[in-house]
Amino acid sequence: AEWTPQAGWHDARVTPYAPLTLDPATAVLHYAQEIFEGMKAYRHADGSVWTFRPEANAARMVRSSQRLALPVLPVGDFVASVDALVRADERWVPDAAGEKSLYVRPFMFASEAFLGVRPSQHVSYLVIASPAGAYFAKGLKPVSIWLTEEYTRAGRGGMGAAKTGGNYASSLVAQQEATEHGCDQVVFLDASEGRYVEELGGMNLYFVHDDGTVVTPELSGTILEGITRDSIVELCGKLGHRVEERKVSVEEWREGVASGRITEVFACGTAAVVTPVGVLKWRDGEVGDPELTGPVTQQVRQNLVDIQYGRAEDTFGWMHRVV
Ligand code: PMP
Repeated sequence: AEWTPQAGWHDARVTPYAPLTLDPATAVLHYAQEIFEGMKAYRHADGSVWTFRPEANAARMVRSSQRLALPVLPVGDFVASVDALVRADERWVPDAAGEKSLYVRPFMFASEAFLGVRPSQHVSYLVIASPAGAYFAKGLKPVSIWLTEEYTRAGRGGMGAAKTGGNYASSLVAQQEATEHGCDQVVFLDASEGRYVEELGGMNLYFVHDDGTVVTPELSGTILEGITRDSIVELCGKLGHRVEERKVSVEEWREGVASGRITEVFACGTAAVVTPVGVLKWRDGEVGDPELTGPVTQQVRQNLVDIQYGRAEDTFGWMHRVV
């Protein structure tokens, strides 16, 4: 669909996948005025197709649009656009685990050909999809994490809570640093004190304590408000775990794992759902067990995946039927 101040949203349609033609002066290519979402559609054993909390993605896109001076796409239109694309897509190929899902990527960008720095007067909204391969083709394997002390992801008043490409552009060198140190993922600390754990490049974090408490860094305005993160807060409540959303310092993480007060660490996001964290590495040390996949990590993952694929009752009302 397209948007202009005069016409509002218009021209919504489903078309065959094809390259875009863009004027070289298209605003997004210069000033990165764009936002996106990431979600999945799941095909259940009975052939029905569902998405997971699409209104939450829609609401996050509204918040992102407000931060990036983009027009608001109404929640109902967002959900309808995803439904329409998922209905049109026939590529239900089983992944390595035998599950069928589509990764769905709605995105909105400044499409006016204009080199002045101001909100674009023409905006485009598209949704694309692709079959989602199993994130863990070789089974659930813990990821290793590099603590970057050089780069931060977002500061106060910045764009950290928005799902916008600039955040990912700025995280690429940090991810390269992680790879150079033999790690799978990078973890960012807060920009003001360089002390509190924020999130990974594309996942939120959870810490399981030996007293059974499950802790996740609080939403500070600088981290992405993950829908998986939010769902796990609710799910843990139902599973009888005490959940705390609060600041978690990197010392607490290191000392907690070293002393056994923290028994499990896991990361979460749409693509991987829940993934165990093995080792945390930094410039002159490391802590953790590269093989650890703890019981709470497995329980949370299994419960979520079973709801998503329709094998467990959705007592939360999270699933939205598409087909
Ligand atoms: N943080 C970042 C930076 C992300 O890109 C993602 C993936 N969208 C997440 C966290 C997890 O969010 P969600 O659970 O909504 O996928």
